[in-house]
Amino acid sequence: MLEIQDLRSRYGKRSPAVLDGLELTLQDGQIGVVLGKNGSGKTTLFKNILGIKKPDSGSILFDGEDLLKMSRSARARRVAYVPQSIHFGALSVFDTVLMGRVSYFGFKAGKEDEEAVWRILRDMQLEAFAARNVEQLSGGERQKIAIARALAQEPRLLVFDEPTGNLDVANEQLIIEEARRVSREKGIAILTSLHDFNQALELGDRFFFLRDGRIRHSGGAEIVTEDVIREIFDAEVRVVEIEGKKIIVNGGKKT
Ligand code: ADP
Repeated sequence: MLEIQDLRSRYGKRSPAVLDGLELTLQDGQIGVVLGKNGSGKTTLFKNILGIKKPDSGSILFDGEDLLKMSRSARARRVAYVPQSIHFGALSVFDTVLMGRVSYFGFKAGKEDEEAVWRILRDMQLEAFAARNVEQLSGGERQKIAIARALAQEPRLLVFDEPTGNLDVANEQLIIEEARRVSREKGIAILTSLHDFNQALELGDRFFFLRDGRIRHSGGAEIVTEDVIREIFDAEVRVVEIEGKKIIVNGGKKT
């Protein structure tokens, strides 16, 4: 379980805090979606969780242990990052995924590491791609390889920054399905940010609305309402239900 308490983070001594008393809890196997305007601090939050940025105060606990006090390799076994745009260099798919295990093998990969990579490639139906050069793959395939590489770390939490940002509709769907499978089958928690409310509703179990440095609303799909979206985004939307599914449509009621 990820537990963030009273997190405060800013970029310079004289700059205002981007995150200011942020609280967030995510259980194993849950998919949490952070929603907030551009510049509201989503990436800053992820950087703090990943240890790329040191918070000014507060704590980030994983199963009660302080992530910030762990060694890099200990943290890598708990939290992995799936970047949006990936530049792997001209490596094969197999070697790219194997790189995800560097926190386990240090200098030289062993048989166990190679077996772990094959297991992941098999699970994700990527075996046929093993020898291919990642640079020659499509955006969706590359994103899938990035997930595979993150999984090779055997993390308990995956952090995805806008996983579908660069993808077309079919590939978006593929990545959403893959993320759901990973969380359900392996009990891995996923924390992500998405701009599209409908994608968020499709993927998320928990929703965290970020504004002015704090999570203003958190909960299940029931908290994704016209009022909350207006408060957080200054935007008018309509929430409708089609075949029992909640859909967010741009533009509010005409009054
Ligand atoms: P989001 O991901 O929600 O768009 P960010 O976390 O990227 O938001 O940014 C939050 C705020 O922090 C913005 O005001 C942004 O300008 C500022 N910021 C982000 N990165 C840096 C940085 N490296 N140095 C200074 N300010 C930054």
